[in-house]
Amino acid sequence: MKAIVTGGAGFIGSHLVDVLLKDDFEVVVLDNFSTGRPFNLEHVKNRIDLFECDLSVQGDWIAKFKGVDYVFHLAALADIVPSIQNPEGYFQSNVNGTLNVLQASRHQGVKRFVYAASSSCYGIPEVYPTPETAPILPQYPYALTKRMGEELVMHWAQVYKFPALSLRFFNVYGPRSRTSGTYGAVFGVFLAQKLANKPYTVVGDGNQTRDFTFVTDVAEAVLAAAKSDKVSEIYNVGSGATVSINRIVELLGGESIRIPKRPGEPDSTYADISKIRKDLNWNPKVPIEKGVAELIKNIDYWKEAPVWTPDKIEKATSDWFKYLGDEK
Ligand code: UDP
Repeated sequence: MKAIVTGGAGFIGSHLVDVLLKDDFEVVVLDNFSTGRPFNLEHVKNRIDLFECDLSVQGDWIAKFKGVDYVFHLAALADIVPSIQNPEGYFQSNVNGTLNVLQASRHQGVKRFVYAASSSCYGIPEVYPTPETAPILPQYPYALTKRMGEELVMHWAQVYKFPALSLRFFNVYGPRSRTSGTYGAVFGVFLAQKLANKPYTVVGDGNQTRDFTFVTDVAEAVLAAAKSDKVSEIYNVGSGATVSINRIVELLGGESIRIPKRPGEPDSTYADISKIRKDLNWNPKVPIEKGVAELIKNIDYWKEAPVWTPDKIEKATSDWFKYLGDEK
């Protein structure tokens, strides 16, 4: 079986490549290395076809779809602040990119297409654990463009009977999470702070909780989706639990310092995963204690990552407060 993983050099993509290789798939990776790194695939570089390309424009990458059975579309721009500053770039990558990959996949007649969607589509949910049927309320362009990509995929499934599924990932964490560039997901921030012996920058009182889902569990959910006979379905992928930021600090060990609460972010994320458990027989395996221990074991990966301080965070998030805050 031959598979394409778009964004396969990224954090989640590279773990999916590992899972697919273990399952004897032939793997082609399409990536523009905007945030993904060849280093993430260094250990498997002789076993895959790694092709650098820009999926937001049609190009010679389309030839790579020849003979492909499975497409896993993970390539996207992530993070909140840059999406507020550069919505066009996010539209190009996350919407046009998805359209192009969908069309290439449809013309090839692939067996399964799995889209990596985001739990950020729920915005600030009213129901916890949050089911797939909860209202869609994106709070910033990243969330909106990932949702638009999902709508394209589901529409292709409806109109063209295209065998597609969408998985909404909740707060994915684990080895190889992004280390460079903009202020982003909390574990990268905290691990670099731990290495530099700086205090963890805890937002608000730290009692807010997140459904932190370990990356290998996510990769296995993606594979389970591809192998199932389900199509045209959307599934939450979460850990089955929600954990406070204060608990994360406790698990990592060390001092912390408070920074202001950010506008538009929920006090909790917590996926209702009963649908994926039932339909795909998938269950998360890695509890937070084990996942954090795994991160600490691999902490050298974040050696080059920027060390964020409250001052730097204030500057980096000024547009977040400016556009999403009450004072406009
Ligand atoms: N967070 C934090 N300090 C930071 C960055 C994030 O305490 O420097 C918290 C944030 O308030 C949120 C959680 O960590 O509750 C996860 O944040 P992240 O940006 O990773 O994901 P999201 O808020 O999009 O779920």
